[in-house]
Amino acid sequence: MLTTEDFTRMPEGLLVPLAGRVGRCPRCARTGVEARTESGMATYVHVQTSEVMCDGMLVEPQDCCVTFESTLPASLSLVLLRN
Ligand SMILES: [Zn+2]
Repeated sequence: MLTTEDFTRMPEGLLVPLAGRVGRCPRCARTGVEARTESGMATYVHVQTSEVMCDGMLVEPQDCCVTFESTLPASLSLVLLRN
């Protein structure tokens, strides 16, 4: 079953099971849940779909902002990316 979660409709500070706490996105000022991708990029997810599979849950962000570059100076980002 595919479910869509729209974090922009949720109040700031709400704790969403499995996703995290709803906060305000520094890029677009909408509410969302902070998430880190496998490559280490910090993102704010605003809308995501989740589907329960036989071996776990597949979560796909539908609408998200990358916040990594905007919150750190470029030189510092490069240092962190190398690690
Ligand atoms: Zn955003």
